[in-house]
Formats: sequence, C-alpha cells, structure tokens
Amino acid sequence: MQLQGKVAIITGASSGIGEATAKKLAADGVKVVLAARRASRLNELKREIEKAGGEALVVETDVTKAKDVKQLVEQTRATFGPCDILVNNAGIMPLSYMKNLHVDEWLKMVDVNVNGVLHCLAETLPDMVERKQGHIVNISSVAGREVMVGSAVYSATKFAVRALSDGLRQELAPKHGIRVTCIEPGAVETELTETITDDELMNDIQGFFKDLKFLASEDIANAIHYAISQPDSVHINELQVRPTSQG
Ligand code: NDP
Repeated sequence: MQLQGKVAIITGASSGIGEATAKKLAADGVKVVLAARRASRLNELKREIEKAGGEALVVETDVTKAKDVKQLVEQTRATFGPCDILVNNAGIMPLSYMKNLHVDEWLKMVDVNVNGVLHCLAETLPDMVERKQGHIVNISSVAGREVMVGSAVYSATKFAVRALSDGLRQELAPKHGIRVTCIEPGAVETELTETITDDELMNDIQGFFKDLKFLASEDIANAIHYAISQPDSVHINELQVRPTSQG
C-alpha cells in the first residue's frame, strides 16, 4: 500500500512503541495523529516530526473516556480527513501477584488495554466500513499467548486484544476490505514496567530481565510499518516479534 498521504491515529504516542511508530510512519508521508494523556510529550514529538518534514496533529486523549476518543476521531476527520490506519497501542502493565489484591490496577488495566481499544474501534469503524477500506493494528503481546506468574490480568487483557483482532479480521476483511493486524511484541525497552507497584513480584522477576537484551521500540515500529505497507491484496494477520535472547 502506498502510505503517502494516509491518515493514522496512534494511541499511546507519547512514549515507547507509539512514539517510534509515529516517527516511522510520518517519515513515510503518513499524516499522524498523536493521542495520549501527556500533551507536553505529544507536542514535543509533533515538533520533531514537523522539523523532519512530516505532518502531525496532537489530540490529548484518555482512551478510557468515550468522549475523549470521539473528539480524537472528530478532530482527525476535520484536520486530515477520515482515519485510514488505527494503531491501538495505548496500554499499561502493572503486573502483580493476584494474592496481593491490586484490584484497582486490575480494573484500570482492563479499562485501558481492552475498553480503550473498544472505544477507538467504535469511533473509527463507521468511516472504514462506509469507505470499504482501512487497517486496524492492535498491539497485543507475547503475554497475549502465554501467561506468566504475575501476568494473569495483563495476559487476560492481551488475550482479549488477540481475540478481538481475530473476530474483527473474520468479519471485516472479506466483506469490507478492512485489514486487521495483531502485533505481539516480546520484551521491548520502554517505560512500560514503570507501572509495576508490586515490590514482591518486581523483586522475583529481576532474574527474568537480567539476561535479556531488549528490543528497541523501533523494532516494533518496523513490524507495524511492514504490515501496513503491503499491497491491498496481502493481509498480515499476526506478527510475533521477540528479542533473540528471549526464549
Ligand atoms: P510505554 O509505557 O512507553 O507506552 C504506553 C503508552 O500508553 C504511553 O504513551 C501512555 O501515554 C499510553 N497510555 C497509557 N494509559 C493511557 C490512557 N488511559 N489513555 C491514552 N493513552 C494511555 O510502553 P510501550 O511502548 O511498551 O507500550 C505500548 C504497547 O505495547 C502497550 O499496549 C503494551 O502493553 C504493549 N507491549 C509492550 C511490550 C514491552 O515489552 N514494552 C511487550 C508487549 C506489548 P500517557 O501516559 O501519556 O497517556
């Protein structure tokens, strides 16, 4: 697919994988819409993209709030036109032992990682269906295939993202020409682990992180770019990308 001039909404663009994806797509002529809560980080990224010759729009968005997401899609339409590519990337990962009852974090994870995706789908699907085109990229995880001790709720949200991707693909691709790609990263060096507050678990998983050579956010941005730049007739359903050092 020719990406030049396409419009992409990227949630969670204020850091990590979302930020790297915004830069990668903008460098290829995509008009990128940067969505997250930290507006100052998004504005900094917009300046960087524009300095490099790209086009970007910032819409401060909390994906758990339906009215924010509605405004995100409306502002996108008004500024750049309808959304061609939706990258559902915003997510949090406060891993914890279930017995330690971090209940607020469980619910928040479901809200951001699952409900956030649903809000974005609800606002972008009508235009995509009407135009019979579009590409939805959902960021699941290796944890959306395997559960580890401490990842029960996070994995539940990422299994859900994978299930959603499968259902969307079956419904939307053959009849409506809308492609759906589920990306499943392994360990990527980002700010994601900063949401972990369970010290007992954090202490126990240090060994897992110790010998890992993490992926860079750009490695996942490259995978997303690969999936969306295929010809219309080619549908990349799933990509699992791990660091070589991760088993
Ligand atoms: P980061 O913490 O760097 O990025 C997470 C992004 O999500 C931030 O931009 C944050 O922005 C945004 N976000 C969080 N809550 C909300 C919200 N309520 N509304 C809008 N945006 C929100 O981590 P990553 O880049 O690693 O994470 C990106 C995705 O990749 C996540 O879905 C994560 O689960 C997934 N992933 C990451 C892996 C890794 O090893 N890093 C492995 C597998 C999957 P802000 O705080 O400004 O709102």
